[in-house]
Amino acid sequence: MKLERSKQLFEEAKKVMPGGVNSPVRAFSSVQMDPPFIKKGEGTYIYDEDGNKYIDYVGSWGPLVLGHCHPEVVKNLKEVVETGTSFGAPTEIETRTAQLIVDTIPSIDMIRMVNSGTEATMTALRLARGYTGRSKIVKFNGNYHGHSDSLLIKAGSGALTHGVPNSPGVPEDVVKNTITAIYNDTENIEEIFKTYGEDIAAVIVEPIAGNMGVVPLTQEFADKLRSITEKYGSLLIFDEVMTGFRVAFEGAQSLYNIIPDLTCYGKIIGGGLPVGAFGGKKEIMSKLSPIGPVYQAGTLSGNPLAMMAGYTTLKILKENPEIYKDMDRRGEKLAEGLKNIVEELGIKASFNRVASMLCMFFTDQPVVNFETALTSDTEKYALYFREMLKRGIYLAPSQFEATFINAAMGDEEIIKTLQAAKEALMEVK
Ligand code: PLP
Repeated sequence: MKLERSKQLFEEAKKVMPGGVNSPVRAFSSVQMDPPFIKKGEGTYIYDEDGNKYIDYVGSWGPLVLGHCHPEVVKNLKEVVETGTSFGAPTEIETRTAQLIVDTIPSIDMIRMVNSGTEATMTALRLARGYTGRSKIVKFNGNYHGHSDSLLIKAGSGALTHGVPNSPGVPEDVVKNTITAIYNDTENIEEIFKTYGEDIAAVIVEPIAGNMGVVPLTQEFADKLRSITEKYGSLLIFDEVMTGFRVAFEGAQSLYNIIPDLTCYGKIIGGGLPVGAFGGKKEIMSKLSPIGPVYQAGTLSGNPLAMMAGYTTLKILKENPEIYKDMDRRGEKLAEGLKNIVEELGIKASFNRVASMLCMFFTDQPVVNFETALTSDTEKYALYFREMLKRGIYLAPSQFEATFINAAMGDEEIIKTLQAAKEALMEVK
């Protein structure tokens, strides 16, 4: 595989941007190679600057559920761009987008658009604290909610451990109200609530964690989170930045049949443009400025282009529910095919899949939380990743990320992927 031009571009980039990138994982350090520079996308394929073509299982880390350059999204964006790109004033498309979500998702009475998932979770926590008048929040080891200070907590710390900053620059004082908990561990969350329950403003959780591979909550644990937060008067925040409109139109909450108090969105809600959002019960959302005292604002929030990309994507998904069935079927075909290959080759691997999100962990243990995810052999993943890339399959450049099926993917791509995987896994064996 030729990557000369990408290499040259990466060298240039490194001189002017830290690590040559605008988001760390793009530097491909955990798969020990330089990244291809992407030139264009079309449907389920992306093309790099050296002319290599890949089946894209990253989809910009989730947003591109319809694939690249969906004709309707492109057409609508072209129309908007000719009428102006930003006004910082109310526009109709904001209400249409909000209405579509409020009409469909039972937990959402009101929603506010922001510019990223990070902003959505950061503000949802502020709102939860403002609403409850409490300070502490609970987050789970291995869950990622963006990079705001109070959520950047060292994962892996055990029960009842107060947060230790994960990054220089985050003062300990800022994270002293963040309690880290063990995902899918009922005893642990009960102990946390017994000790701090009256001070806990909210529990924030990825209902299907896509930031440690793919690790779903058990139904039992999801029910526990709902009941324990209700018992103590804390809010339950579902971070559906990745799962919203992906695992089902109504998100993971519909699969678990749980009504969270607040839900955070990102990725798909922007259709490939920068959008985040948070929404929930009217009583809580009414505490937000300008009608309530909890402050939040954004120069580009509800930007017309971003709203149009999101609205068009959501409308297509809502009007074509068979998209979800097809993606699920293809996800199953891929996961089953991979399972057969690793079994045949005698490779230890463990699989988690929910609909169009899947992960093959290089471990023999079932992966139910961060602690078990960390038993994966990341060297093996790195080799598998490089061998797949050589064969035209673009996976996430880290073991602890999801593989995403998109709606533009056909059976042909799944078959090609399995052929490539067979060869790649022979090298890993
Ligand atoms: N929450 C979850 C579950 C995510 O997966 C991410 C990003 O990957 C975020 C929040 C942060 O979103 P953003 O990168 O748009 O700030």
